[in-house]
This record gives sequence, structure tokens and C-alpha cells, in this order.
Amino acid sequence: MLDFNTLQVASLCSRCAFVLVFVVTLLRHPREIYFGIWAGALSCSLIATVLMLGDPPSVPLNAVKGAVVYILYGASLAVSWAGLRLFYERTPLIFRTLGLALFAGLSYGLLVQAGASMSWSMTAVFATIAVSSALCMWEILRTPASMRLWTQYIVLAGFSLYFCIFLLTIGVVHFAGERLSTPESGVYSLVFDLWCGVFIQVGYLAMVSERAHLKLSRLADTDPLTGLANRRGLFAAISKRAGLSPAPPRSAILLADIDHFKAINDTYGHEGGDAALVGFAERLRGVMRKNDLVARWGGEEFLVVLDQADIAVAAAVAERLRKSAAGQPFTVNGAPVTVTASIGVAVVAAGEERIDAALSRADAALYAAKRAGRNRVCLEAPPQPDTRASRTEPSSGLREAMEAIQVVGQPRSEPA
Ligand code: GH3
Ligand code: MG
Ligand code: MG
Repeated sequence: MLDFNTLQVASLCSRCAFVLVFVVTLLRHPREIYFGIWAGALSCSLIATVLMLGDPPSVPLNAVKGAVVYILYGASLAVSWAGLRLFYERTPLIFRTLGLALFAGLSYGLLVQAGASMSWSMTAVFATIAVSSALCMWEILRTPASMRLWTQYIVLAGFSLYFCIFLLTIGVVHFAGERLSTPESGVYSLVFDLWCGVFIQVGYLAMVSERAHLKLSRLADTDPLTGLANRRGLFAAISKRAGLSPAPPRSAILLADIDHFKAINDTYGHEGGDAALVGFAERLRGVMRKNDLVARWGGEEFLVVLDQADIAVAAAVAERLRKSAAGQPFTVNGAPVTVTASIGVAVVAAGEERIDAALSRADAALYAAKRAGRNRVCLEAPPQPDTRASRTEPSSGLREAMEAIQVVGQPRSEPA
């Protein structure tokens, strides 16, 4: 049989350790205030446990001591809820947190003072802390998919367990009250408390670390100026999408380069150039579909991998992008500035396992677009294994796309 006092000491030690970890982490990262809030929540239950040291678990607390102890226990869950809200970047609801903390203890004290039965006094306590646990569960469950973490479910498991135990205890208090006055009941409640506590505190630390990792890898994959993926991010997205095959079949590549960008920098300064880049990235986003991968490839060069697109679709999308940029002036330092781009288009040919070859073709097409006078789209056809036998007439979509667009590297017999 587990010893109640030993368990109490174990519970105190684990709480002290977690408070220490949270406080030290807060000192290292003062902006992560939720560590302080969680340390505060744990300290409340720590003090309550100290106050209960030596009290036999089967004897109910008197009105005053009960009020103090249950305010502290109530506060530990209510304050945890406030900490969770802060962690998820929601405003902590201070008055509701205070209300939940005070209600647990004050209702116990007042009910005992008024001569109410112990079962109803305890029901008030457990119902209030069950509400706080449910609020913690709700904060985790309502997290939008973009912010969801795997480790948050460890914390959820801890609060769910607490919630179930509190409800169960209300039932036991009313229908099997004599069980509560056995020494085992105190031991079981401490074991459950230790268990849930470890789930929640370890879960908090895991959640913070998972989110920090995610943030870091997002930062490493993102261009800070435009918010688009950088090269690393683009390749990461391609491999994620394709699994083992790095070049998804039927994808096309657009390589867009802003024309005479140096002149924009020279006229409007580096900040003006940056504003033009941000504006161009916005137009780019506006033209692409959700599944297309868009990246800032370098200085004023942007790369798009179109999902499930043949050369005709890719040419049409590139033309839409060109028109979207050239059609309406950008606002640079308050002045309207027309920004045009040259775009090279190529498709990933059947049998090509990586996008590198298609990228070189798109680059060649971009170079051709620049040579041909800029503000235009050029296509570079993929190499054809058996030119005479397999060449077919372009589809009607391709023919339409080619009317406005220059094709590079195509044999003379095909439309140019
Ligand atoms: P072209 O039409 O042939 O593409 O000419 P261009 O002037 O656009 O190309 P060039 O390569 O001569 O100049 C590109 C300039 O882009 C040079 C570089 O200083 C500038 N640049 C690169 N990255 C940034 C950036 O992040 N912000 C700003 N403002 N300028 C940048
Ligand atoms: Mg340029
Ligand atoms: Mg360039």
C-alpha cells in the first residue's frame, strides 16, 4: 500500500521542480510570460499541499482552512487556464480567472459555515475546478489547424483526466460518501493528481519546445521581406509534397524576373525597391492557385512550381502574372511606378526525376524573354526523345497560349 505522507512529499518535490524549471525559463525568456503564469499556478497548489501536510485525508477541513486551501487549488487550475490562453496568444480573462479561483474556496467556507452537508460543500469545490479543467480543454481543442501542435494533446489528456476525476468524485461524494473517509481514497486522489500534474507540466514544456522548433523552421524557410518561401522552403515543400519523388509529375515552372529593377532601386532607393518586391509578391500570390508553390528565388527573381499544369496552362498563368504586374502601377514611396517582369516557362518532362533540368530550361526561356525586349513570357520546350516520330500538333489550349507568347528552342516547323 502506498503511503499518503510519502506521496505528499513526492507531489511537493515534483511541483517544486516544475516551478523551478518554469521560473528559470522565464528568466531566460522574459517575453514568454505564460511560464510565469504556469509557475504561479503550480505555486498555488504547492502552498495548498504544504498547508495540508499532516492533515489526515479522511477528515474534512474546517470552514476557514478549507476556504484558503480550496481557493489555492481553485487558483491553480484557473491560473493554468489563463496561462494557456496567453500561450495561444489569446487575452487572459483576469476577472473570470479570479472568480473561478475564489469561488471554489469561498463557496466551501460559506457552505460549511452555514451548516450545509459536506457532500454539497465538496460538490461546490469539485464542480468549480471541473469547470476550470473544461476551460483548459476547450482552449486546446479550439486551436486553429495552423497553430495545432502534437504535444498539446499530452496537456489535453492531463486536463481531461482531471475533469473526469472531479466529476467522478462528485458522484462518489453523493452516492458513496463513506468511501471518501477511507485512507485509500486520499492515496488514490494524490496518485491521480501526481499523474495528471506530470502530464500537464511536461506537456507544457513539450508544447513550448515544439512551437519554437516550428517557428525556427518556418523562419529558415521563409523570405523575411515578402513572406514567400525562400529556396530552402521551396525545396522542402517540393519534397514534402512529392514524398520520395522530388519532382511531382505534370508540374511546370515559371521563373519571373522584374525588369530594370536596378533602375527602381536607383530612383526610389533600396526601400522603394523593397516596396516594389513586396508588391510584386502580392500580385504573384493573387494569381497563383492554393497548390502552387511560390518562392523568392533570389534578389528580384521569383519561382513558381505549378501543380498539375501542362505547358499551355503554365503559359496562360505566366501571361496572367505578367499582365497583373504590368497592368496597374505599384505604389513605391507614394508614387505610382509601373513594374514589368519577364517570365521563363518550362515543364518537368516525363521521366525527369528532379526539377533541375526544367529549371535550367525556364532560365534559358527567361534569358530569351530579356533579350527579346522584356515584359514578355517565353517558353522552353522539353527535349523530345524522337523528334520526328513523337512530335504532335499543339493542342488548342497550347496554340492559344502560344499566340501571345514566344517559344524558345522549338523546331522551326512549329508555331513561334
Ligand atoms: P534586368 O531587366 O536585366 O533584370 O535588369 P535588373 O536591373 O532588373 O537586374 P540586375 O541584375 O542588373 O539588378 C538587380 C538588382 O536587384 C541589383 C540588386 O542590388 C537589387 N536587389 C537584389 N536584392 C534586393 C533586395 O532585397 N532589395 C532591393 N531593394 N534590391 C535588391
Ligand atoms: Mg531583373
Ligand atoms: Mg535578376
